[in-house]
Amino acid sequence: ARKSFSFRRGAADRVADPVESLGLKGANLALLAALDLPVPPGFTISTAAWREAASAHDGLPQSLRAEVLTMVEGLEEVTGRVFDGDSRPLLLAVRSSARAAMPGLADTVLDIGLNNRTVETIALELGDLPFAFRSYRRFIESFSSLVFAADPAEFEELADAERESAKWQLAEPSTPDEWRALIARYLAYIEDELGESLPQGPFEQLLKVVEAGFASWRNPVARAFRAAHGISENAGLAVTIHAMIFNERGEKSGTGHALSRDAVTGKAALCGEFRLGASEEDEDFGGSGKAIDLASETATAAFPAEIGALADYVRRIETHLGDACEVDFMVGDGELYLLQSRVARRSVAEAVRIAVEMAREGVIDEDEALLRIDPMSLEQLLHPTIERGEAVEVIGRGMPASPGAASGQIAFTAEAALQLVAEGRKIILVRNETLPEDVHGMHVAEGVLTIRGGTTSHAAVVARGIGKPCVTGAGALRIDFAAETLTAGSTVLAAGDFITIDGASGEVLRGEARLSRPMLTGDFATLMEFADRARRMGVRTNAETPLEARAARAFGAEGIGLCRTEHMFFEGERIGVMREMILASDEAGRRAALDKLLPMQRSDFVELFEIMAGLPVTIRLLDPPLHEFLPKGDTEIAETAASLNLPEKALRDRIEKLREFNPMLGHRGCRLAISYPEIVEMQARAILEAAIIAGGRKGKDVVPEIMLPLVGLRRELDFVKQRIDAVAAQVTAERGREVSYKVGSMIELPRAVMRADSIAEVADFFSFGTNDLTQTVYGISRDDSANFLSTYQRERIIERDPFQTIDVEGVGEFIAMGVEKARRTRPDITLGVCGEQGGDPVSIGFFEQTGLDYVSCSPFRVPIARVAAAQAAI
Ligand code: PEP
Ligand code: MG
Repeated sequence: ARKSFSFRRGAADRVADPVESLGLKGANLALLAALDLPVPPGFTISTAAWREAASAHDGLPQSLRAEVLTMVEGLEEVTGRVFDGDSRPLLLAVRSSARAAMPGLADTVLDIGLNNRTVETIALELGDLPFAFRSYRRFIESFSSLVFAADPAEFEELADAERESAKWQLAEPSTPDEWRALIARYLAYIEDELGESLPQGPFEQLLKVVEAGFASWRNPVARAFRAAHGISENAGLAVTIHAMIFNERGEKSGTGHALSRDAVTGKAALCGEFRLGASEEDEDFGGSGKAIDLASETATAAFPAEIGALADYVRRIETHLGDACEVDFMVGDGELYLLQSRVARRSVAEAVRIAVEMAREGVIDEDEALLRIDPMSLEQLLHPTIERGEAVEVIGRGMPASPGAASGQIAFTAEAALQLVAEGRKIILVRNETLPEDVHGMHVAEGVLTIRGGTTSHAAVVARGIGKPCVTGAGALRIDFAAETLTAGSTVLAAGDFITIDGASGEVLRGEARLSRPMLTGDFATLMEFADRARRMGVRTNAETPLEARAARAFGAEGIGLCRTEHMFFEGERIGVMREMILASDEAGRRAALDKLLPMQRSDFVELFEIMAGLPVTIRLLDPPLHEFLPKGDTEIAETAASLNLPEKALRDRIEKLREFNPMLGHRGCRLAISYPEIVEMQARAILEAAIIAGGRKGKDVVPEIMLPLVGLRRELDFVKQRIDAVAAQVTAERGREVSYKVGSMIELPRAVMRADSIAEVADFFSFGTNDLTQTVYGISRDDSANFLSTYQRERIIERDPFQTIDVEGVGEFIAMGVEKARRTRPDITLGVCGEQGGDPVSIGFFEQTGLDYVSCSPFRVPIARVAAAQAAI
């Protein structure tokens, strides 16, 4: 069977599974050709050929050589050029084409077919000798580095030597003889130093490049990448070969990049850049030509036909893909060619904008728009911005390369960045430009600032990918690496000084600016509306403070699913009163302290109820072991003893009494409520009185949900509920007002799951606590497992941290069982989840399947949970 497949505008050989057999680039060129779009004519040698060659011992199999020869003959016919021809020689480009982009594969080799003879023919044909020889020189360099593993720096040195001995006037040769002498020096070096010879036969050149390209699949970097990404070693490599377009000469030649949509508005419009006379390879390095904005008047005036055609092409590709696209194109000899197209890469903000705009245009529906968004990526939109009220000193300006603002201490190298971060500092990585070896430094940085580059430079692309704020091309700033300073006009900053960057405006500020969260309006809000229409589950938040509660409301939380009351006791004067309560020697002493805590708790709850304005609020009774509240260290102990008027010895004895070896399984949760029912009574009173007060102010009933943690036995809930009911009766009598409330239970112990049907007889609602449930089902400590769990992940014993993402087959089974048992007793029971996993998209998918009523998560996860819940329901 044939193993090579040809393509040219309007015609492409059909292949059953294009990406698998032709790789991304090959499949893409075949697609463009089939869509009748202008591509350079060519053919792709498939992965099947790679497999055959890989098992052969002696170079490329004979059958493949013959096939390639036939294919090249076909190209000669289509182009009217001849490989090794005496006139109009055909030149070819060879590209590696794997099914996924990966590092380590052979780079593109251009201008195959150039030799000592054809270079002169091309020079004559085009009337451009420097162009022909420049191409030949580049070909020799890339061929040698791919096929002979030559060091590119050696060629630089040869050129330097030649420049000196021949006394060139310019950076490159300026006479034909100078060019010929340089090439002769190159070829002599290859023979004398490398012990090789550059094949002069074009066909031999081509086969050598294909063979070396195939072999690059085994490159260690590529192998490591495949291992990390689960790509089979057998997937193999295809190689795409196409006719060269002379895009680097003349007025109407060059290379560009175009997008089908405006990233700022999401609207359909041709955007991108074009560089005159630049080669496609140079573009990655910032290009040698002058960049022209495709949307500018200069572009439309200079290239009316090309711009018009390009706009039409990207539209056709977008229609075919059903998504925004980007293309790489070339213009040579006044003809426009597409080299590659793909779904447009985009920042999260752009992705939201484009998805919403496409839904608005009716190109896709709302559900499809939602499915195009990775919920976790929305976190990037919740990035801070600089508070503008502040007097901030702008010391420089660059390109807004990746959104969000960040402050940190200046680090000039990735190593310095790692070091400072290891010391617990926040840093901004400041470089002239970034290279792949800087990426680890970018990962730990708050943000990245570069002096050179633009919005598509390495720093910008990487920063957007990892969601870090980035400013590039702040050209007015100067780095002195030796002195470790950053200079902006008269301002000189040293390594370790604070700066702030604004990746949305491109500004660079001196010092640490105050940052605030962004307004979540516009397309983001529209996407959230889509999500709210699509989802079934409710989304609540875990919040204790008014600040968190307000943030969560702004993010669209539909109530509080978990208010951890212990967090309300840790601060300020409360910790003192709390200590007084814990250290009291009898019930009377405890009650005295609780009387002081009551008004504080009550006013907290009033505020939460008011912020939540009638939405459900679940308040959990005190959960953690008491010793967490006690003073630690000698000074704190001495101070506490003094303020409580206790002898230090007595305090130390009491602390010792409260000490537990395994506090997470000790005297915590509802066990405290049962040991000290007066705590429950105080908390219930605070909650119920607050409900009456807040309800009275708003003229609307507040129905608090009181939740008991760490329940394992139904009788535990019975015991506590009786106390709550008694307090409610008292409060009603005292205030002369009925108060409605619900009493429910956390389900976070295996025993609670097993007895969920019985516990449901007394509970109005359940909330699954996946933190404790994971801890107790697995028998691993939520506080001490990070070390060995990372080993487990590395050894692939587990795939993910079970505390972050639900372990479906273990902990998930328990939850499913709990749901089933609870509903058996009480079909209308409200079931939620409030552990960390309530904000994890994968887990949310599971909770949807299990039929939970809502998830509750930290405020900043609320938008993520809304979209994840919607996706799960679609
Ligand atoms: C849980 O255990 O999942 C939970 C929400 O409670 P906490 O994290 O406070 O123990
Ligand atoms: Mg818990």
